[in-house]
Amino acid sequence: MLASKLYAPTLRETPADADVISQQYMLRAGMIRKMAGGIYSYLPLAWKSIRKIEQIVHEEMGSIDAQEIMMPIIQPAEIWQESGRWKVYGAEMIRLKDRHEREYCLGPTHEEMITTLVKGEVNSYRQLPVTFYQIQNKYRDERRPRYGLMRSREFIMKDAYSFDIDEEGLDVSYWNMYHAYERVFSRCGLYFKPVEADSGAIGGSNSHEFMALAESGEADVIHCNSCDYAANIEIGKPGIIKAVEEEASELQEVPTPDAKTIEAVAEQLHLPLAKTIKAVVLSTDGVVVLAIVRGDHEVNEIAVQHAVDSTIEPEMATEEELQNAGLTAGFISPVGLKQTETFKIVVDESVMETYNVCGGANKKDAHYININPKRDFNVDDIIVAPIRLITADDACPNCGGQLSIAKGIEVGQVFKLGTKYSESLNATFLNQGGRPNPFVMGCYGIGVSRTLAAAIEQFHDENGIIWPRAIAPFEVVVVPINAKDEALMDVSTRVYEALKAIGVDALLDDRKERAGVKFKDADLIGYPLRITVSKNTLESGAVEMKIRKNGEAIEVPIDEVTTVVA
Ligand code: ATP
Ligand code: MG
Ligand code: MG
Ligand code: MG
Repeated sequence: MLASKLYAPTLRETPADADVISQQYMLRAGMIRKMAGGIYSYLPLAWKSIRKIEQIVHEEMGSIDAQEIMMPIIQPAEIWQESGRWKVYGAEMIRLKDRHEREYCLGPTHEEMITTLVKGEVNSYRQLPVTFYQIQNKYRDERRPRYGLMRSREFIMKDAYSFDIDEEGLDVSYWNMYHAYERVFSRCGLYFKPVEADSGAIGGSNSHEFMALAESGEADVIHCNSCDYAANIEIGKPGIIKAVEEEASELQEVPTPDAKTIEAVAEQLHLPLAKTIKAVVLSTDGVVVLAIVRGDHEVNEIAVQHAVDSTIEPEMATEEELQNAGLTAGFISPVGLKQTETFKIVVDESVMETYNVCGGANKKDAHYININPKRDFNVDDIIVAPIRLITADDACPNCGGQLSIAKGIEVGQVFKLGTKYSESLNATFLNQGGRPNPFVMGCYGIGVSRTLAAAIEQFHDENGIIWPRAIAPFEVVVVPINAKDEALMDVSTRVYEALKAIGVDALLDDRKERAGVKFKDADLIGYPLRITVSKNTLESGAVEMKIRKNGEAIEVPIDEVTTVVA
């Protein structure tokens, strides 16, 4: 490709509304454009890199015999109602109606869809195991889309789903996928850690997240300085609930605040009840709180979200925001409970219909994270456990070593689903004995667009991006110091052609710009290698090769360029 033809409009200034490095540099390097909050267009350079990530994903999925399919983005409400998630998914789901008033959503994920698909396709154990995947846009109306491609509302995800006859089969599929993910992120050049994401407290490994470590990460990762133990700091919430369930011999009953209490509080807060969303918030700091907030008010919604979905962005509603919205009062504590006690709150289905029951707290950063009613606990058997997050002061549960905390960007997650969806959607196969059994499933996601951003978060300097070579939009840029000088252009073109001939993705900066401008662009866009063709080095039959990563420059004889680059 010739730079004179490449559409990559670079900017010298940092755009005002870009809040993280990856977003700033992608805007400045002419890679992405914001079309609406959390919704982006990819310009050629970004799309080239995305394609490279996708190619790596395809190869690694192929290596474990996962088969690519493509499912619809638009999904009918019925399958979500059947699984019980139509209500539970909440405001993050983008819903729409067709002209006949039938309801749909834009797929935030595809468990319901794949289960329904496979239910109609696979009917015998002989056809198992099987794993399908797709790379597709996903839609989540994130409460606070931000950080550019890191938390957008339309984003590219690779989602995969495995179907097995039993738990042992699932275990094999799960670890195959886990190792494929390790290869994907290694090949993408990321510095990452797989961390336990679920059930850590009871020693299971039902889920791992792949965390690209970076300051801008929204997740807290705890990891051992001596062994390879690593966990999401939110680890084990459902696990802890289960564990407590088993341990607790005597549970103290705490009634769910009744409708009267809720009404009274709503009145006190001057909230029109019809518009009131009620949330029973299970505290992690020893207080059971009830949050009542109005749903039609922007900031109040933040608070509801804070309570209901704190899991996603724990810092979502700041103390100040809550206060501004008069919401400190919105959180009342009907029962003050001590941290050392365990409690059982009985919430029946009808309450579930009306209220959002969620794991949370009346305190910032003190929530049960990623907890989902029905998925993680039975609605009629919620236990509020005194919970303590693992901290850096704890000893490593694996080796007793010292722990550290780091920020991580969740670039992927693998999850053992078991029969949750196959049971609720009644998806079965005939086992060897000819009896119907629910599929034993796993689901696995990679944030393709987030991975691109994560790479930039990890690899950059004050001059721009420093791409890992495997996902760089171009691996090499050849820069003739002066494009008007025919001799320089000749050599540059020869070098460029030779690189292309051996399969190197090269760019020739044939623009009639000053060398300084080309160098600045090369640094900003972040090509891993820059080959500069100037009179100086040509005298000795060489070109200068500069490594973006460390700024090292070496002279390479022209006919050795391909060997060195390859
Ligand atoms: P998060 O905790 O960051 O909200 P998640 O756990 O909700 O992510 P998953 O449901 O596990 O996300 O989806 C699989 C992958 O999709 C994630 O690991 C992440 O890389 C990516 N992803 C999720 N939400 C977004 C988003 N809003 N923008 C970009 N990528 C995302
Ligand atoms: Mg999320
Ligand atoms: Mg997550
Ligand atoms: Mg996840």
